[in-house]
Amino acid sequence: TNFSDCEAHPTLLANVRKMGYENPTPVQKYAIPCLFARRDLMVCAQTGSGKTASYLFPMVAKMLNDGPPAPHGGRGSYPLGFVLAPTRELSIQIHEEALKFCYKTGIKVAVVYGGADPRTQSKELERGVDIIVATPGRLIDFINRGKVNLSLTKYLILDEADRMLDMGFEPQIRTILESTTNPGKETVMCSATFPQPAQDLAVQFMKNYIFLSI
Ligand code: AMP
Repeated sequence: TNFSDCEAHPTLLANVRKMGYENPTPVQKYAIPCLFARRDLMVCAQTGSGKTASYLFPMVAKMLNDGPPAPHGGRGSYPLGFVLAPTRELSIQIHEEALKFCYKTGIKVAVVYGGADPRTQSKELERGVDIIVATPGRLIDFINRGKVNLSLTKYLILDEADRMLDMGFEPQIRTILESTTNPGKETVMCSATFPQPAQDLAVQFMKNYIFLSI
């Protein structure tokens, strides 16, 4: 599959061209069709494989194809999608890539992570946001304070799941996944390795998932 063969909005395809992505990497070649087919997916791939675009491109494409999102409420924010990542650094990288994919699409992307002033992040969320990139602890803080509500969220991504588990984020991940109640939700987990705790999460929170190892 090539990016331009996908059923994707012309603005998104123009953004992909601007990013200089001509041919999909191997992980993208296999993951993108699975995600357009709306399957849950477990991706075992290393950093540098192009895994970020393998989940961001289909997510943005499907959001644009799904039609206009529900209006953003004045109280709290109902994101259509989120990406969980273990660290501030990775969250920032994913956010930067998401901004490029979403350029001029109208999709709003925000990043929240620990160790930074929550008030600034909170103000951004209050403006309404379609995609939140977050570290698990900070996302929970915002959920608990009513600033984020995941009841409508459709697109769930867990990046570097093995690293998040190693860092002790399992309870937070479970709390976050349990608060996603949209029956049509689609879940992607990325992990360099697939240890037992990651397998347990996959079995519990994904339905009939495809396993892709690159
Ligand atoms: P990642 O594994 O997602 O961290 O991506 C590694 C690097 O590959 C990043 O700098 C991306 O911008 C770049 N990249 C991802 N997909 C492609 C592609 N299809 N063509 C060229 N570069 C890409």
